[in-house]
Amino acid sequence: MPKYRMLIDGKLVDGAQTLDVINPATGEAFTQVARADEAQVLEAIAAAKRAQPAWAALPIDERRASLHRLADAIRDDADTFARTLVQEQGKPLEQAQAETAFAEIFLRYYADQSLDPELIQDDADYRVEMHYRPLGVVAGITPWNFPLLIGVFKLAPALLLGNTYIWKPAPTTPVMALMLAERAAGIFPPGVVNVVVDQNDLGAVLSKHPDVAKVTFTGSTATGRKVMEAGASTLKRLTLELGGNDAGIVLPDADVRKTAERAIGSAFSNSGQVCIALKRLYVHSSIYDEMCEALAEEAAKYPVGDGLQQGTRVGPLQNAAQFAKAKEYLAAAKQDGKIIAGGEALPSDGYFIQPTVVRDITNGSRLVDEEQFSPILPVISYDDIDQVIDAANDSEYGLGGSIWSNDTDSAMKLADRIASGTVWINHHTHFGPHIPFAGAKQSGVGVEFGREGLTEFAQRSVVNLSKQ
Ligand code: NAD
Repeated sequence: MPKYRMLIDGKLVDGAQTLDVINPATGEAFTQVARADEAQVLEAIAAAKRAQPAWAALPIDERRASLHRLADAIRDDADTFARTLVQEQGKPLEQAQAETAFAEIFLRYYADQSLDPELIQDDADYRVEMHYRPLGVVAGITPWNFPLLIGVFKLAPALLLGNTYIWKPAPTTPVMALMLAERAAGIFPPGVVNVVVDQNDLGAVLSKHPDVAKVTFTGSTATGRKVMEAGASTLKRLTLELGGNDAGIVLPDADVRKTAERAIGSAFSNSGQVCIALKRLYVHSSIYDEMCEALAEEAAKYPVGDGLQQGTRVGPLQNAAQFAKAKEYLAAAKQDGKIIAGGEALPSDGYFIQPTVVRDITNGSRLVDEEQFSPILPVISYDDIDQVIDAANDSEYGLGGSIWSNDTDSAMKLADRIASGTVWINHHTHFGPHIPFAGAKQSGVGVEFGREGLTEFAQRSVVNLSKQ
């Protein structure tokens, strides 16, 4: 019997099949979970549809209270969540603790938002209000880099609005979703929260089903395109948070030490498997040598190992396929540039590579042009600001970007020339539930977080009263 079961229509159920979950630090299965067949996904959709009207009819304070109870459940078991998260995802314990804490914070943030109507016009002739109504059944399809946080920050706004939710996690990291399902089973009415597991084979059942009103998807741009295509037949509402290849631009007057410390912190966080990690750094030629040296020194402060081992700052890549890709990028680094820190995979059954810094490399190398999603930072020299902005923007992606300078006024002006949904100045990757987050170009469609993110889970409905 699998250790973790799915949640369908209020019941924790075994799957038609089972799935082994690999610990990426050992390359071996550490647990087994239930895995659905198509019939079970259809059951979850039917249950979510049945449950939705009564859930939406509850006073909002009751929905708020349930979200807070789920946040309490995470808080009360934070240590188990964090340690299990390390086993399934690989990240160092400290980062797993941060993800667990963030899951609680996002839940409480959304639980406390207002859905009161907004006044558009109120005069002698008309009173016009904007109301926010639920859409119906929402499907959340999530990736393997933040297995708890991403599913939770989709669930919370969906449920507050009165939608019901079906969560399908990534097949290599289903445990967080199933642990949350166990807690949700005792909190929400049957059908309001459902969790199903697949092996990359059932996402499309959700994204094309006519009874799913909205798909909120985080994952690769390639799969995002498929979700959009599948949703077209019923014109589904979509939020797509997709890939990124974030560039940082270091101006000649930047603080070299501080920039190196923060740039490496962003690039190596979660082994580089963060959509908004710094993935390429452009440095002005006047400080290029100095900056490369500082980056290599910083990289040496990032021991790689099992995330449960004290002192580890870089864990394994999350899965075998991503590990294979990272090794291809190491080969590209050797061929196209000069490695000044790291550069090798570790001899281990786990999926480890050394945190790596590469200099003397340019656009045109795979390592610079593609989303490498590994702890490998290419550092590119530039002379001309217009040319470097073109190079940074020369990407199908546009998730985040950063400018590093002591002249923050000029940096703020330059920010408008970076074609991405977020531009950080003198840091990279900071985000929060109150800060709207959106991808430009093929990094996404729609917005998450903040009021904009919340209302993406709503049908906007104008109520227009004539006073005459
Ligand atoms: P992926 O696209 O391979 O998978 C994401 C999810 O989609 C998984 O649950 C998968 O099972 C499911 N899926 C696969 N085929 C499907 C289909 N045809 N229809 C519907 N669902 C399907 O992504 P991944 O490899 O798990 O995650 C890494 C990617 O996610 C990177 O590109 C990263 O940048 C991106 N990401 C983006 C953000 C963001 O907010 N923009 C955040 C985290 C990760």
